[in-house]
Amino acid sequence: MSAIADCIFCSIAVEATPADVLFDGGDTLFFRDANPKAPVHIIGIPKKHLTSLDAISGDDHFVIGKLLHEATDVARDAGIFESGYRVITNIGKDAGQEVNHLHFHIIGGEDLGPLVCNSSSL
Ligand code: AMP
Ligand code: ZN
Repeated sequence: MSAIADCIFCSIAVEATPADVLFDGGDTLFFRDANPKAPVHIIGIPKKHLTSLDAISGDDHFVIGKLLHEATDVARDAGIFESGYRVITNIGKDAGQEVNHLHFHIIGGEDLGPLVCNSSSL
């Protein structure tokens, strides 16, 4: 698995950068977000560098499907399975994607409220 230079999540995937890892699925990795936005905020990534969901091709959908299934187990282990949680991925500028390595946010541990966007009053 080759890491892309200057990609923080590739660096975490090859253990060059430390992270609070909760689950290693071999081709996937789940770790706590360094700047959590909720009591439970976990990041799930494919170890393969894909810039976003837009970049998947070929067999990539297998690892993404597996990752999403694993996310439910990670949520269970984190204690938010029964109370509910949100899984989201940001793609590109308008979504505010900061790290250009495909990742899913698994957030919960409190009432997350409605999904709010800047034009939620529309
Ligand atoms: P996004 O805006 O969807 O690209 O989200 C990127 C997320 O990665 C943010 O929630 C950051 O707090 C998180 N993040 C950035 N660097 C690290 C890191 N080294 N370890 C854990 N989480 C990180
Ligand atoms: Zn990467």
